[in-house]
Amino acid sequence: MKFEAIAVENIPLIQKGDDLPLIICENMELQDRDIVIIASTVVAKAEGETFRLKDLIPGEKALEIAAKNGQDPRFVQAVLDRSRELLVEVPFMLAITHAGHTCVNAGVDNSNIEGDFLLNTPGDPDASAARLGERLEKLSGKKLSVIVTDTNGRAFKIGQTGVAIGIYRIKPIKRWIGEKDLFGKVLEITEEAVADELAGAANLLMGEGAGGTPVIIIRGLDYYCEVDACIKETYRPEEMDIIKKGLRYLQNK
Ligand code: GDP
Ligand code: MN
Ligand code: MN
Repeated sequence: MKFEAIAVENIPLIQKGDDLPLIICENMELQDRDIVIIASTVVAKAEGETFRLKDLIPGEKALEIAAKNGQDPRFVQAVLDRSRELLVEVPFMLAITHAGHTCVNAGVDNSNIEGDFLLNTPGDPDASAARLGERLEKLSGKKLSVIVTDTNGRAFKIGQTGVAIGIYRIKPIKRWIGEKDLFGKVLEITEEAVADELAGAANLLMGEGAGGTPVIIIRGLDYYCEVDACIKETYRPEEMDIIKKGLRYLQNK
């Protein structure tokens, strides 16, 4: 058994309005069932999701949080603007974005962007993945899956990994429930987070710095699916999410 991960070479610095699928197809001969993994940073750049702190005026809530966590109040305002809820305010901001993804600073980031610009994650990463996927399929004539990724921390371990924040034509979860283990015992719980695992694998070639490799092709694994899929279906339902409940409890104490 094996699969390949291939970095797409020659991707330029991405600007607002750039046709990412065209750039990808010009630099890579795609094959049926390739999984095209794209860093949210370049998706956001192409979508024009950049801004400057000096253009923001912090509101009362941002000033209040900034006084507690010591961050620039305009940065706090930027995070608030992109969040439906802050689960943690101090010592860092853990946000639930409008799209429902939970991450530090709502994904607002100042790395790999020029000057004093900051970058959002795409507003609706599932919609971005679908748009990119449909255009990639049209240009290449192949059946493809897409994963839009970001780098996120984990709650219980040091170190960040690539995670899926938007998907197209790939089921994000592989259910092992009902399958047998080596000894014939029926698996009762395990659901494998395939989209996140693929994002993590791709991140090995993306890196976090000046690599200039925001697009990775995973070839040789068959996770293509015709039905609509979205990353939102992987967000744990509110009533089952005891970690969020715990964080809200601490926040309101
Ligand atoms: P994130 O994980 O989506 O926040 O993206 P990162 O900032 O970690 O960047 C992932 C990869 O994309 C790294 O290899 C960066 O050097 C690369 N990258 C970021 N922006 C661009 C760009 O505009 N053009 C190219 N060619 N690479 C970029
Ligand atoms: Mn990022
Ligand atoms: Mn990254």
